[in-house]
Order: sequence, then C-alpha cells, then structure tokens
Amino acid sequence: MLELYNTATRQQQPFEPADGKTARVYSCGPTVYDFPHIGNLRTFVLSDILCRYLAFKGWKVHHVMNITDVDDKTINGALTQGVSLSEYTQQYTEYFFEDLKTLNIQLAWKYPRATEHISQMQALIQTLLDKGHAYERDGSVYFDISSFPDYGKLSGVHAPRMTQCSFSRLDDEYDREEVGDFVLWKAAKPDEPFWDSPWGPGRPGWHIECSAMSMEYLGPTLDIHTGAVDLIFPHHENEIAQSEAATGQQFVRFWVHGEHLIVDGEKMSKSLGNFYTLRDLVEQGHRPQAIRHQLLTAHYRQQLNFTLEGLEQSERAMQRLNTFIERLPRLPLPKGSSAEAIQLIEEAHSKFEQVMDDDLNVPGALGVVFDLIKDINTLIDAGELRDRDRTAVLNFLEQADSVLGLMTEQLEAAKSEPVLAEEIEALIAERAQARANKDFARADEIRDQLAAEGIILEDTPQGTIWRRK
Ligand code: AMP
Ligand code: ZN
Repeated sequence: MLELYNTATRQQQPFEPADGKTARVYSCGPTVYDFPHIGNLRTFVLSDILCRYLAFKGWKVHHVMNITDVDDKTINGALTQGVSLSEYTQQYTEYFFEDLKTLNIQLAWKYPRATEHISQMQALIQTLLDKGHAYERDGSVYFDISSFPDYGKLSGVHAPRMTQCSFSRLDDEYDREEVGDFVLWKAAKPDEPFWDSPWGPGRPGWHIECSAMSMEYLGPTLDIHTGAVDLIFPHHENEIAQSEAATGQQFVRFWVHGEHLIVDGEKMSKSLGNFYTLRDLVEQGHRPQAIRHQLLTAHYRQQLNFTLEGLEQSERAMQRLNTFIERLPRLPLPKGSSAEAIQLIEEAHSKFEQVMDDDLNVPGALGVVFDLIKDINTLIDAGELRDRDRTAVLNFLEQADSVLGLMTEQLEAAKSEPVLAEEIEALIAERAQARANKDFARADEIRDQLAAEGIILEDTPQGTIWRRK
C-alpha cells in the first residue's frame, strides 16, 4: 500500500483517493515571468513522479497545475519590456511547456491560468466577506486571520501571536515573523493591469488563485496538494484558511512538499543569482535524460545539492542504461527462459513497488533498476540469458519507466527497430567468415566501414552484436 508523508500530520500515512477511484491532485505551478530554473523543475518532476505512480497503482489521476500569469513579477516584467501582460506571460508559458517536454514530464489534466479565473476568485472573496472572514479597506480586501482559529495548523506558525496581530499585508510573500491579515484583492495601482470588481478596480492576490482554481476543477477537498517547502508558509497556510473558511470542509487530505534544490548550501533562486535553467544545461551539451536523472537522485524530502560533477555521474549512469537497452534486442539468444533470470526479474518488480510505496523512494527505485541491469549483464556474459528473459526484462523496464520517465525514447527505439537489421547482419556474418579464414584485413575493413556509419560491433560469447554509437 502506498504511504505518503503528510506535512499536515507530520507522519507517513497510507494513501488512497477519497472516492477510491480518482486521485485529485493540485500542484502550485510556475509564475511565468522568466524561464524556470532547475530548482523549480525539480518540484515539477516531483509532481510528475507522484502522478505517474498514482496511475501505476491503478487510480485515475486528475492533476491540476495553475499558471500564475498575474502578480508583481509578471507585471513588472511586462512594464520593463513594454508589452502587454498577456503577451509577456504567453512567451514564458510556452517556454515552460517546452521545458516540461524536454524533461519528459507528463502533461497534467488541466493548466488553468489565473487571468482566466478572475470571476471564480471574486466569487470566493465575496463568500469570505459574507461569512465575516474578510474585510475591505481602501479598495483592497483582506482575510481576517483571527476569524479562523485553525490558522497556523499546517506551518505551526505560533497561534497566540497572531491574535495580537492586527496589521494587513499587501505583499503576497512574507516571513513567519511578518504574519498578518493577508490580501485577497489588491486595489489597482497606476499603470497596472486591473479587473473591475464589487470593491473597485484591482487584481487578485496570489493565494486566492490556488484556492479558487483548485476548487473549480477538483471540488472542495483535494486528495493531494503539492509544492516545494518554501510554500508551506504563507502560501499554503493561506490557501487552507481561505478554502476552509469558505466551504467549512477540509481543503487538503495530504500535503506533499518537496525539499529544495540547493547550490553550495543555498536555495537555488533567481534572487540569489545562483541558478541554471534547463536551456543553459542543454546548451552546454547535457542530455535532458541525465538532468532528469540527476533531479531524481535524492529523495524528494531531502535537499539535493546540484553540481556539474553530479550531472556527469548521471550522464554515465544514463549511458550504461542506454547501452543496455540498445544492446538487449540484438543479442542472439537461445530460446526459452532461465529460472535465475525469471527470479531476478520478479524480485525487481516487487522491490520496485515496495520502495515506491514507501513515500516515493525514487533513489531506491533507481537502485532496483540498475541492480537488475548489472545482474542481467552477468547472465549475458555467462551465456545464460534466454530470449523469453529478454522480453521479461524489457517489460520490467517499461513498467518502471512509466513511473521514472527516464528511458522512454530508448525503450521505444528498442521496440520499433528490427531486431537485427539485415544489411548489418550480413556484414557481421561476412566478418565472422573472414576471421574464420584468418582474413583479418577484410574483418577489420568491415568493422571500420560500420564504425564510419556509427555502428559499433561488440564480440560476445554468443557472437557479435551491434549498437549505434
Ligand atoms: P515559481 O515559479 O517561483 O512560482 O516556483 C515554482 C515552484 O518551484 C514552487 O513550488 C516553488 O516553491 C518551487 N521552487 C522554487 N525554488 C526552488 C528550489 N530551489 N528547489 C526546489 N523547488 C523550488
Ligand atoms: Zn499555489
């Protein structure tokens, strides 16, 4: 049974969708004011892995991720570039989707944009006003945290201090020390885009976005809400207050928070200037597959220290994996299956699920995959692997990859390529004949000719196999 660590209860708990069928998952998405850095992408890879694994467990998944396309940063960006807000955010939204594709992140069910849900946000704010949880001041609307006794239950922000607190915060982001009534609707400032509202022209606060859009698509109670740890306070605390004050129902059953990607002990962030974008790394020649692997090398609740050396290790790990997948279909194997291989593969299946059930232990799952590859290579070298074992290994890798998303292309290629291309096969046979005749000049010529075409020959105990460089 799948267990997830729940920030709300500070415990690892068995998870099942509330209705037993469909997991309703909401993830705080990107603010589209710049390229995501790979710290942001680590968090998006976490929700990807989570949703892939929920599907692996047989549930239907409704995953919603918002696009924050109106806030201080997007507005400033548009003003600086002298373009409209929508023009400005549209380009970064496109880059965001390109990055998802590059990293083989599966698309969510819905990506609602904040600017397309202003009326839902206004309706929610009106409900909070009607129920006495919010008040209006100078054209802005604030949430009154003293009206919600549970305030602080997620983050542990100390409750007694808050009741004494009577000031109102206009900024969306602030520290624990600055806890106060937070803004739901911001009165328009000169030069800023605005929407009409019952409280005058303005725009929504950041927190209300997520409450309104998650409820719109997933209902009042979410099975799982994800984000990185920096969002626990104030963003998620405020989401709970707004949502539960409005509906009177539990907002989120499981809070899943990912730890940060760090550089030299500090959080990777735009403001510190210590960041890499995916594009930077790809331009430097790093394979997206290796970058994804690197993001998966630490458990999601552990910080991941990003280094280029770490990325190099991932490159080598992926090279091993790719070579294995490429080589396997072309091995001339005897018919049948071997008891040893079947046992190894069955154990890999059950261990994979066991570690993933344990709060998504992805490093453990990677260990299962790489251990199996090592063991199967040993069997190949000993001439003990049979053709039915090969099918079983590929089947295991495919199932593991439906969760890990690391070798999708390679497995596709392994399936679609003819097991042994005839032309190459004929040359390999000719080379074997030449060697038998001690015509090493011709044998080498054939090897060189194939090498020039990007085909590498490898002599194994079972005969010669080939792979692409
Ligand atoms: P943003 O686009 O700034 O709204 O952030 C998108 C997501 O990335 C949020 O869930 C952030 O909490 C998360 N995030 C920001 N910095 C990091 C980091 N260094 N490591 C992991 N996640 C991060
Ligand atoms: Zn959010």
